[in-house]
Amino acid sequence: MNRDRSTKLEPPLKSDDLIVITGAGGFIGGNLAAYYRDKGFKRIRAVDKKPIDDWYLRVPGVENLQLDCSEEAACRRACDGAVEVYNLAADMGGMGFIERYRVECLRSVLINTHMIEAAYQAGARRYFFSSSACVYNTTLQQDPNVRALKESDAYPAMAERGYGWEKLVSEMFCEEYWAERGLKTFIARFHNVYGPNGTWDGGREKAPAAICRKVAEAVREGTKTIEIWGDGNQTRSFMYIADCVKGIDMIMHCDDLIATPINLGSSEIVSINELVNKVETIAGVQLHRQYDLTAPRGVAGRNSDNTFIEKVLNWEPNTPLETGLRETYLWIREQVYSRSKGLRVVV
Ligand code: NAD
Repeated sequence: MNRDRSTKLEPPLKSDDLIVITGAGGFIGGNLAAYYRDKGFKRIRAVDKKPIDDWYLRVPGVENLQLDCSEEAACRRACDGAVEVYNLAADMGGMGFIERYRVECLRSVLINTHMIEAAYQAGARRYFFSSSACVYNTTLQQDPNVRALKESDAYPAMAERGYGWEKLVSEMFCEEYWAERGLKTFIARFHNVYGPNGTWDGGREKAPAAICRKVAEAVREGTKTIEIWGDGNQTRSFMYIADCVKGIDMIMHCDDLIATPINLGSSEIVSINELVNKVETIAGVQLHRQYDLTAPRGVAGRNSDNTFIEKVLNWEPNTPLETGLRETYLWIREQVYSRSKGLRVVV
């Protein structure tokens, strides 16, 4: 075991230390760059393979690079001089995407494989990996009245095909880079994140964004109907983006969590029908529901058991769903109306 770097006394993170965030053209990475900029960090490098014009957020004062992090050389460039590395890049989307494109999801293993090695070679002090609740054993999620998932429920493993297995293997990389090489790694298992400045159309969007868009479109077009995937009885919990970025910061800077996967999600469980009710209330409409029973719907139920995060961080994601949904609906409604007027929007 090479614990040289792990046993060295670590100076506190300074505001001019370089923070690298991959996937920063996407939803969570973009919001994380904004979070650290607002916290006063002056050297943030944001990386994504998408053209910079297509990023949801281009944060002023942040260095933006277009790089494909499934390539080793790109990861070396991304990590050059980094003190902390946050890997949020992945080829992913909602159920419609991850059930249909399992090979693309599995290929994200290249991103983490090269990023963690590049971070290690660059001498980064800390490395964050964005894992997912999709690592959990799917046989434990066959009932909408599901027992909340605790960290030990990932093994014995029967993860979501494609996407979930990639996350599980990448978690293992993080655990072994700590065990063998002393790189401090941090692994958060996100449960459905939602909020403004994320995917809201095009096939990769997740349930809250899709429902907000469908409601906004129904209002704009006066159609009075909404299509729902499945029978609407599937249950989930949804974490607001502000809680997600705060949680990432807390997890990354807690030494009790080195190489230890932890849930980062809300424990407020709702059915998809209840989610639609809430968005309808915000929009001030009631729509006729058409259920598409052939559409992808994922596991029957999923919730986050937050016993561990409460114990270690004395905190859990706590933005009420109504509050976060209101912000999200207003942002998506603005995108829907802008697009209908022919203005350029990023989906
Ligand atoms: P997102 O799709 O909005 O962002 C991911 C970004 O990664 C995209 O902008 C994409 O262009 C970029 N990317 C893909 N391949 C890349 C590559 N080879 N090189 C560089 N960039 C690349 O997704 P998100 O919701 O922001 O998710 C961020 C991370 O959190 C992902 O790892 C995802 O698996 C994980 N996660 C998200 C959720 C959620 O609910 N949003 C839930 C669980 C886990």
